[in-house]
Amino acid sequence: MIEKYYPDLYYDSIRHIDLDMLEKKGIKGFILDIDNTLVPMHSKDADQNAITWIGELKKRGFKVCILSNAARKRVIRFNREIAVTAIHRAYKPSGRAFLKAADVLELEPESIAVVGDQVFTDIHGGNKANMLTILVKPIDKREILYVRVKRWPEKLILARYMKKLEHQLKRRELWKKNRLAMEKARYKK
Ligand SMILES: [Mg+2]
Repeated sequence: MIEKYYPDLYYDSIRHIDLDMLEKKGIKGFILDIDNTLVPMHSKDADQNAITWIGELKKRGFKVCILSNAARKRVIRFNREIAVTAIHRAYKPSGRAFLKAADVLELEPESIAVVGDQVFTDIHGGNKANMLTILVKPIDKREILYVRVKRWPEKLILARYMKKLEHQLKRRELWKKNRLAMEKARYKK
């Protein structure tokens, strides 16, 4: 069951996430990872990039919860300026952590999007809780060893995932071609 590690959406960074589309899809809240999703691994404070993007989420009326495996001190300091709800030491990919965040947000899991940079914590956990999962590329390539060792199997999973997308795209192209042929035939009649 490799699918449990597949994200629903995959973007280069948080700024690339299509918020209009998510709004239309009925997403009402976000669960966000900190490290390498919002800021580089070792930045203690939220930077302008993170502050602006989360500001945009708030402006659109999305509810936001930070869900991090990091310690309390780190999460509190990071959250100082952005001031959203936050859960530290979450033990992701535990499904409980994600459901707790849904409770805090007072939203159904189906209306929540999870954003993170790791397949085995953020994406796997969000999928277990039946949330929409969004993978972003890690901001900083220099990572601590225990994250680096996970990147290798992650790469294999993502390669399979991209192949699947490609396959879907090809099927869609084929469908469109057939569709066009049908329309043309109808047009000639
Ligand atoms: Mg992370």
